[in-house]
Amino acid sequence: MSDPDIAVVTGGSRGIGRAICAELAAHGYYVIVNYKSNEKAALETLEIIKQNNGSGEIMKFDVADYEETQKCAKDIISRYKYVNVLVNNAGITADGLFLMHKKEDWDSLINTTIKGFYNITKPILQKMVPKHRGSVVSIASVSALVGNRGQSNYSAVKAAIIGATRSIASEVARLGIRLNVVAPGLIDTEMIKDAPQDMIKQMIPMNRIGRPEEVAKVVRFLCSDDASYITGQVISVNGGMY
Ligand code: NDP
Repeated sequence: MSDPDIAVVTGGSRGIGRAICAELAAHGYYVIVNYKSNEKAALETLEIIKQNNGSGEIMKFDVADYEETQKCAKDIISRYKYVNVLVNNAGITADGLFLMHKKEDWDSLINTTIKGFYNITKPILQKMVPKHRGSVVSIASVSALVGNRGQSNYSAVKAAIIGATRSIASEVARLGIRLNVVAPGLIDTEMIKDAPQDMIKQMIPMNRIGRPEEVAKVVRFLCSDDASYITGQVISVNGGMY
């Protein structure tokens, strides 16, 4: 029997990340479910994977922490030699009008999203190079494309992920490695639990909030060989918002 393909999903414990872990596991990947602090939720994700006859493990690291992330990436690479898929999903918000934002509201977003992208993508990508194979999918947001009111910091860091992805994709395309972005609209997770549901539905032509699974299926497609000629792209999953 051949070794399973290995997928690392950052922020796999809850929400969209959990759905991505379940979707990839259901398609035969061995999934490394990363989380920052919520071990209980990460174990629930692993349980879902196992209930569907999939396999994986949980791994705690804060993508914003360079040293910790390098240590964990090293551990993954030493145990599995090669990672086929990386999904940069971990994300946070610190919403508020720009004039009310504090320095921390920008630092936290920059550290988790932009530095987090660098911290995990670089060591994993380095291991994809000799194999001439691999796929990286990063989760941005419709906010990066439209510039959402009250989300200047979030829009900025998600737009940075799109820029970085396009650059790196053009650097490694000839090596058989693809990088793409999925930009969800409003998806039913804890991240938007405090948003006024009726009001936000009116912003969506489909008049409903999206499900994490609807994002996960697109991510899985982009990871797979079915997307073999797609790189450097941003795929929106947003019910027609943009
Ligand atoms: P949730 O808040 O439901 O889950 C966030 C996940 O990220 C958790 O697994 C959390 O881990 C993890 N995480 C947060 N910070 C870190 C960190 N520093 N290191 C490692 N893991 C971390 O978010 P969603 O599922 O809603 O969002 C997932 C992604 O999709 C994010 O990038 C978000 O910006 C993006 N997105 C979401 C939209 C939505 O409407 N929900 C819309 C557009 C984009 P733990 O459980 O340990 O806290």
